[in-house]
Amino acid sequence: MKKKVFIIGSGFSSLSAACYLAKYGFDVSIFEKNDSFGGRARQFKSNGYTFDMGPSWYWMPDVFDRFFNDFNKKSTDLYEIKKLDPGYKVFFKNNESVSISSDVNKIIETFENIEKGSGNKLRKFLKQAENNYELAVKDMLYKMPGFSILELINTKTILRFNLFLTNINEQVNDLFKNKKLRSIIKFPVLFLGAKPSNTPAFYNFMNYADFGLGTWQPKNGFYDVVKSMIKIAEEQGVKFKKNSNVDKINVDSGTVKSITVNGKKLDCDFLLSGADYAHTESLLDKKFRQYSESYWKKRVWSPSSLLFYIGIKKRLKNLNHHNLFFDTSFEKHSNEIYSKPNWPEDPLFYVNLTSKTYEHTAPKGHENCFILIPIATNLNDSVQVREKYFDVVLNRMEQLTNQKIRGFIDFKRSYCIKDFKEDYNSFGGNAYGLANTLLQTAFLRPKLKSKKVKKLYFSGQLTVPGPGVPPAIVSGKLVANIIKNEGTV
Ligand SMILES: Cc1cc2nc3c(=O)[nH]c(=O)nc-3n(C[C@H](O)[C@H](O)[C@H](O)COP(=O)(O)OP(=O)(O)OC[C@H]3O[C@@H](n4cnc5c(N)ncnc54)[C@H](O)[C@@H]3O)c2cc1C
Repeated sequence: MKKKVFIIGSGFSSLSAACYLAKYGFDVSIFEKNDSFGGRARQFKSNGYTFDMGPSWYWMPDVFDRFFNDFNKKSTDLYEIKKLDPGYKVFFKNNESVSISSDVNKIIETFENIEKGSGNKLRKFLKQAENNYELAVKDMLYKMPGFSILELINTKTILRFNLFLTNINEQVNDLFKNKKLRSIIKFPVLFLGAKPSNTPAFYNFMNYADFGLGTWQPKNGFYDVVKSMIKIAEEQGVKFKKNSNVDKINVDSGTVKSITVNGKKLDCDFLLSGADYAHTESLLDKKFRQYSESYWKKRVWSPSSLLFYIGIKKRLKNLNHHNLFFDTSFEKHSNEIYSKPNWPEDPLFYVNLTSKTYEHTAPKGHENCFILIPIATNLNDSVQVREKYFDVVLNRMEQLTNQKIRGFIDFKRSYCIKDFKEDYNSFGGNAYGLANTLLQTAFLRPKLKSKKVKKLYFSGQLTVPGPGVPPAIVSGKLVANIIKNEGTV
C-alpha cells in the first residue's frame, strides 16, 4: 500500500512538493484552510476585474521551466507568457522617471546617459551577477537542504568568499554615484526581504535575474502558474481539500501519527507543512516545538504589506505594467521597516497595472490596479490607517503621472497585516517570510525536517532557500526528496 503524506496548505512550496511526492509513489493529500488554493498567490475576481492577490513579478523563468520539465512539460504548454518591455518604470522626485528595457544593452545605455562611465561598470557588475546566478540558482539551490554549513563550502564559493563579507549597499555605492542608479540596482534585494546593507553582495545574482533574464507576465496573471501546478498534481493523483483547517498535529512516541482537520482525526505516515512555520509548531504540544516564541521574535522578518486592489474606469497614461515610486527616501523607509518599525512617513510604493499587458484583466476601457506599500510586521492595522495611506499614494500617483484618478475608482479592496494573520496564520502578518540576511541563509534558516518529531517536515518561504515564488518551488522539491529518501527505507 502507498504511504500516506498529508500536506498542510496549498502555497507554491506545498504544490511543488505534492507533485514530486505523488510522482515518487506516495498517496498525497493537501489540506487548505481557505476556500481556494495557491496560498499567498490566490486570485479573486470582482466587477469584471481579475486580481492576483500576492506575487506579480515573474522572475527567474528558468526555475519555473525546470519544475515543469521534471514533469515532461514546458511552461508554454501550460500558459501563455510575455516578456515585458519595458520591464518596469521607476519614478523619482522632480517628475523624473527611468524605464528599464528588456534589452540589457539598452539598460547599459540608459545608465551611461545618467552617469558617465556607469555603463561599463554595469556591464562588469552584471557579468559577476550572472556568474553568481549560475552558481547559486542553477547549481547550489537544488543541492542545499540546509542541513549543514558544508553544503555552502566548495571551490566556487570559496573563490567568492569576499562577496559574503561585503554587502550589496557597499558594493553598489562603490560603483555608482548617482542616487537614481543606486536605488534601481538595490531594488531587487527587496525580493529577499532585507535591507541592502544587510544582504551579502553574493546576492547580486538578483540583478542578473532582473536585467539579464527579464520580467515576464502570464496571460491570466500569476494564478496561471498555480492552476498549472494543480493540474500536474491532479494528474499525479494528489487529492485537494479546501476549507480544511488543520487544528492539531497528533504525535505518539515521538512520531506524527495523525492530524485533526475541522475537528476530525485523520491518520498519515508523513506530514509536511507549507504553512507558516511558527503556526505549524503551535499545532504541536509545546515539548515538540523546536523554536520558541522568542526565537521567532528575534528573526529579521521580510516586510508585511499594505495592499490595495483597485478598479479604475478609464485607461491611465504615463504608467507601465510595473511601476516603482521611489520619489522619497529609500533609506528612511527601510529604517521604518527594519530598524525602528513604524508606519512610514513618506513610503515608497509599487503600482501594478496588469491590464497594460493583458486588457482582459479589466472591463473594456478600464484599468486593473494593484498598489503595494511595504511595511514592518506587527504594526497596528486599522481602517483609518489604511485610508490615510490610500490618500497619500493616490496623491503622489496623480501628481507624478499628471492625471486624475480619484473620481474614476469603481472597485476597491484593501489588504494588510490583520488579513495576513487571519488568512494565512502569518507570524506578525509577514508577507514574504524570513529575510535572507547572512545570518538567515542556508543552514541558518529554520529546518526542512523536525529535530523533535519524526516524520514531520516543513517547506516554504520561512525555510530554505527563502522568500519568493521560485525559492518556494525549489523548497518543495528539496523536502520531497528528503521524504522520498526517508520514506522508502
Ligand atoms: C503581496 C505579496 C507580493 C509578493 N510578490 C512576489 C513577487 O512579485 N514575486 C515573487 O516571486 N514572490 C512574491 N511574493 C512572495 C511569494 O508569494 C511567496 O514567497 C510564496 O507564494 C510563498 O509560498 P509558500 O509555499 O511559502 O506558502 P504560502 O503561500 O504562505 O501558503 C501557505 C498556505 O498554508 C495555509 N494554511 C496556514 N495555516 C493552515 C492550517 N492550519 N490549515 C490548513 N492550511 C493552512 C494558508 O492558508 C496558505 O494557503 C509576494 C508575496 C506577497 C504576500
